[in-house]
Amino acid sequence: MLHFVYAAVNFLILAAILVLFGRKIALGIFRTRRERLEAELDEAERIEAELAREGNDLPEIPGTYSDEIPADAREEAAAIRRRGEEDAEAVRKKTEDTLLGMRREALFDVRAKALDSVIERAAELLRGEPYQSVLREKEEAFADEIVRRMEITPGDIAYLKRHDILYVTLTSARELPQSIVDRIGKRAEEMLAEVGGKQSYWVKVDPELIGGFRFRVGDTVYDFTVADRLYRVRSAMAKRPLTGNETPEQLAADLLDGILSGAADGSMREFQLGRVLSVSDGICWMDGLADIMYGEVVEFECGERGMILDIEMDRIGCIVYGRYERVESGTKVRRVGRIASVPVGEELLGRVVDPLGNALDGQGRIFTAERRPIECPAPSIPDRASVSRPLHTGIKAVDALVPIGRGQRELIIGDRQTGKTSLAIDAILNQKGTGTVCIYVAIGQKDSTVAEIRDKLTRHGAMDYTTIVCAPASASASIQYIAPFAGAAMGEYFMYKGRDALIVYDDLSKHAVAYRELSLLLERPSGREAYPGDVFYLHARLLERAAQLSPENGGGSLTALPIIETQAGDISAYIPTNVISITDGQIFLDSDLFNEGQRPAVNVGLSVSRVGGAAQTKLMKQISGTLRLDLAQYRELLGFTQFGSDVDEDTRKALEAGRRMMAALRQNRYVPLPDWKEALLLFAVSEGYAKDADPADMDGFGAHLTERMETLYPDTVKRLMNGARLSEEEKDGLRRILDEICEKSDADGSGEAA
Ligand code: ATP
Ligand code: MG
Repeated sequence: MLHFVYAAVNFLILAAILVLFGRKIALGIFRTRRERLEAELDEAERIEAELAREGNDLPEIPGTYSDEIPADAREEAAAIRRRGEEDAEAVRKKTEDTLLGMRREALFDVRAKALDSVIERAAELLRGEPYQSVLREKEEAFADEIVRRMEITPGDIAYLKRHDILYVTLTSARELPQSIVDRIGKRAEEMLAEVGGKQSYWVKVDPELIGGFRFRVGDTVYDFTVADRLYRVRSAMAKRPLTGNETPEQLAADLLDGILSGAADGSMREFQLGRVLSVSDGICWMDGLADIMYGEVVEFECGERGMILDIEMDRIGCIVYGRYERVESGTKVRRVGRIASVPVGEELLGRVVDPLGNALDGQGRIFTAERRPIECPAPSIPDRASVSRPLHTGIKAVDALVPIGRGQRELIIGDRQTGKTSLAIDAILNQKGTGTVCIYVAIGQKDSTVAEIRDKLTRHGAMDYTTIVCAPASASASIQYIAPFAGAAMGEYFMYKGRDALIVYDDLSKHAVAYRELSLLLERPSGREAYPGDVFYLHARLLERAAQLSPENGGGSLTALPIIETQAGDISAYIPTNVISITDGQIFLDSDLFNEGQRPAVNVGLSVSRVGGAAQTKLMKQISGTLRLDLAQYRELLGFTQFGSDVDEDTRKALEAGRRMMAALRQNRYVPLPDWKEALLLFAVSEGYAKDADPADMDGFGAHLTERMETLYPDTVKRLMNGARLSEEEKDGLRRILDEICEKSDADGSGEAA
């Protein structure tokens, strides 16, 4: 007790000391802080007062600011502001689209969940009376239908040849009357006896089927179950938006109706089942499915889908579209009953999709009314017309030297980073306002590159009429393999509707590599450079689908611009030679020219367009007539004189003219020019009017020329726009105008480029 009192007294003394000192210290801290704050406040007040005084002392600036700023700076500021506004507008639009897409997608998810619960509820209802009694009454009719429809397929006969016995299974939701079981079994026995085989008859009960029964002979399944109906309704509804008015009761009634009428109108489901043997690297091997066709779609139990690419004696190979890790060996795989196809239609314009037509741009699911098979025979010869209408790319070097016609296939070929994609994108930009629909197929590229391309197309207002089909490098080889075919199907839709379409395959070398990977995995023999022997056929049947249809067939067209990447300029490698021989010409982009600053780096000697000449406007044809030859001569001359400094006057002049023409053919990205401007500029340069122009600023010269022309001679501009050939008088007239505009000093410099 005493100890306790002692301890308490001690504690009290200690506490008192602590409180005393602690208070002192705390007060000290507060005081110094308060003093510091007060000092800071004083300082702030002083500075404020000083600022106010100085502000009042500032001298008045005479005049307004805009008077002081020079005109060009003001223009530049306006341009910057305009660009900023455009950027802001683009960002705003993109955000709005994304928001809309997200909202749509969320709504769809809600609906999908609702659908799930509706189906679940419907299943519950269907398990109970009175539906079950109706189903029981129908059992006899189902059995009749099966007995009538049952057949032994060639696949079953092939199986019997090897195994002598065929598995026959009858699975029902509830125990069936013995009479039905016997009747079906007897019929199967008879049929098998006819082809000299026996059956192994299994009868099973599976409550999961909810109602009805399912009969399987070999690979073929005759399905009358409620579970299958529900599955079909589920997948059909997933493909279209719900109306929102469905109720479980009504859906159940509809389902039952469908099932019952299925028995009455014979629309019972008949499909084939197979079994997965093995899966690896996106390739799946299966057995069964003896009657399957090349290119057909199959569905695995996990819900993934695939496409048949290989049919052997005792196994079938297919590519898996989605996540092949989800497919397990030993599971069932069913024939969907159609060839692989993609959604097509106007709804795809402005969107980025994968080769199966699923949106990749986050703007919501795409519902189209139509689908087209990804592999489709090309239009036949009588269905075609010859290429006769130009497809302007807006690129001087292309339109003048290697013109492209609608329905043509023109290859863009060159080393890496030589401006291949830029050329194709410019061609797409130039289709603005022409009614031409564009499809850009990106194969094996980085996602970031595709995003950049989409951004460029959006900024230039080209996305409204363009679809991007994207199979990035991260996608499986199967997806990359079908990408160009899917793109072609989307383009064909417009062609057959009588419209013009342009498709860019960027690039087919990567496509060939993806196909090589698949082929090697499918254990096909490899040929030159390890590519399979049919890679030529693969690209030929893809590019053959580009066409100009005859007027009787609507007169639509599909123009193809495949891209091929070469290694160190080697155009004699396997894939480049293949595609060169398939296409109607090529635009060869030279890395040396590119590095010299000649962009687009079109190599005039190696580039040709075999049919495009017929599609050039008469005007352009007249003006660019000798251009190709002149430029070839210039390159040759340049080669000769590279090391010699003293050249005679004529050679010097020719070199000078050639250099100017080469400079005139330079063009920046994203500024496609209308045909008349290209023609006018080339005419002026070839006639020597650009003599005093700075070769580094040919764009400026061209802009000046066309601007003056538009303001001073609108009639001549109209005449040039119409694209007809110029008569000699008209040519002279044009020369006079150019004399005036260019204030040309040397009047007899005409024909200098020659
Ligand atoms: P890759 O082999 O990587 O696909 P590519 O051949 O498609 O390359 P692009 O991506 O089109 O080449 O262009 C490569 C670069 O060249 C671009 O980043 C661009 O800066 C430049 N370039 C292309 N064309 C032009 C042009 N007409 N004017 C100026 N620069 C250009
Ligand atoms: Mg590229």
